Amino acid sequence: MCGIVGYIGKNRAIPVVLSGLKNLEYRGYDSAGIAYVLNNKIKIKKEKGKLDNLVDKVNSDIDSFLAIGHTRWATHGEPSVVNAHPHCVGSITLVHNGIIENYDELREEIDYQAVGETDSEVLAAYIDYLYKQEKDILKVLNKLKSILKGSYAIGLIVNNDDSLYCLRKDSPLIIGLGNGENFIASDVPAILEYTNKYYILDNGEYAKVLKDDVKVYLDGKEVKKKVNTFEFDITSAQKNNYKHFMLKEIHDQREALYNTLKSYEGVVLPDLRKYDGITIVGCGSAYYVGMCVKDDYEKVLNVKVDVEIASEFRYKRVILSKKHLVIVISQSGETADTLASLMKAKTLGVDTLAIVNVVGSSIAREAKEVLYIKAGVEKAVATTKAFTCQLLLLLMLVYNKNNYQKFTDLIKDVEITLAKEEYLSSLAKSIYKYNDVFFLGRLRDYAMCLEGSLKLKEVSYIHSEAYAAGELKHGTISLIEEGTPVIAIITDKEIADKTVSNVKEVKARGAYTIVITNQVVPNDIADVLINIDIEAVYLPIIVIIYLQIIAYYVALERGCDIDKPRNLAKSVTVE
Ligand code: GLU
Repeated sequence: MCGIVGYIGKNRAIPVVLSGLKNLEYRGYDSAGIAYVLNNKIKIKKEKGKLDNLVDKVNSDIDSFLAIGHTRWATHGEPSVVNAHPHCVGSITLVHNGIIENYDELREEIDYQAVGETDSEVLAAYIDYLYKQEKDILKVLNKLKSILKGSYAIGLIVNNDDSLYCLRKDSPLIIGLGNGENFIASDVPAILEYTNKYYILDNGEYAKVLKDDVKVYLDGKEVKKKVNTFEFDITSAQKNNYKHFMLKEIHDQREALYNTLKSYEGVVLPDLRKYDGITIVGCGSAYYVGMCVKDDYEKVLNVKVDVEIASEFRYKRVILSKKHLVIVISQSGETADTLASLMKAKTLGVDTLAIVNVVGSSIAREAKEVLYIKAGVEKAVATTKAFTCQLLLLLMLVYNKNNYQKFTDLIKDVEITLAKEEYLSSLAKSIYKYNDVFFLGRLRDYAMCLEGSLKLKEVSYIHSEAYAAGELKHGTISLIEEGTPVIAIITDKEIADKTVSNVKEVKARGAYTIVITNQVVPNDIADVLINIDIEAVYLPIIVIIYLQIIAYYVALERGCDIDKPRNLAKSVTVE
């Protein structure tokens, strides 16, 4: 959500900042802006809408060697040029990601007349107010920790000072380390063209960044930081020859799943058998990952497994035994509600385990134990490879013992599935014109339906619902009309007949049925029958890949902005 990029160094700053913002576009935004220093003066350009609007307005050939840029995802005040960042008040120019919860009190305290509506403008005014008193920006940055409420990653420049400053709490920020140049950014893809070395700024830390020096502080004292190295090569973060990141990432799954599997070969995974209950917490697809493994977990571990939506879990009354485990799942490791749920679990004194993709992210650092998936950079807003890698890792955890045998054919089966892309794309043609699509399944099949349905609606904007197959006739079946597409998943032998009956019910009412199954089902229930000849424990991964490809091609037929669906952001760092 939102992107920050800052540059100081030997090269021209504007092109670096703009290309960095381009590489963060996947995070979602509604306006963009840049501030750069030219002949000792700070200039600001801001535009509403796409980053290209800004790129068209800024001359990249200017000899400026210090700049900060921002893509804004509005939280306070409409997307507009006034509300877009950077904000300049007095000597302070800044970009901000997050929410300053007490901005109104701060504004009153200094009696500031705001021009726009954002919390970030007030933040700039407040910092300027402190700076006038202290006359030392590092002292001011140190003070902010005890004053500001909420979350923030801030990039900042000061009049007549050739340095780049930054600080953070609960919103991600890294410092890229180059040669004669340094960077700040919300995420690693912004700097990969220039360097793969970086610091992760921790909560409460602030830094002074010069072209050949970086000093990081906490509570007034300099801290020694560990240099991180991004382990994937830069092409993993590029679109290569694919039309969209989503399609590229669907194909990346072969490698991402392989890397995830391989990286745990010979590694002893945490023993889940020692717990008397497990709660899996996530948002969106990460929540559905939990739903997809619930049955397996309960069967194998013989304990109760609850799967919770993070934004609910964080506020609900929960009673957990001391031998309980809370597993939190987040691709970015920065999802605000999931992070809050993790903190809640910690205060309840139970063990916590995080499954995340981004190394060193807040959730990874806060959890008692962390297991990384190896998906590489995921840029499309709609998750694909991170989802299946999370699913794989959760399955590996529970089928720990026979790890190797259980997953040997996974990559082969992923390849077989990806090879059906053309066939699946033709299916999209029979779906894309409809306003509603339903997904039907029971138990684990229902969980897969939830993810399939979410994938379809987020990228294609078709209204879609997943239904526990037996529940449909209690109301929703009234929505089935002649031709309404219904996708049914039937992979559970014990209840296959039950779902078959439900598919018959909708077919009798005119539905166009697509049945994905590894069971023997009557031919006449399906307009399209997709047989998957797999019994393995990783079957849900394969089914989900089918659903991802279908969602992608339906969205393509409808001409949607597939990688950046409207209103959505990749890394949801606000509540
Ligand atoms: N709360 C700030 C605003 O609405 C920052 C939003 C963001 O993170 O992009 O301007």
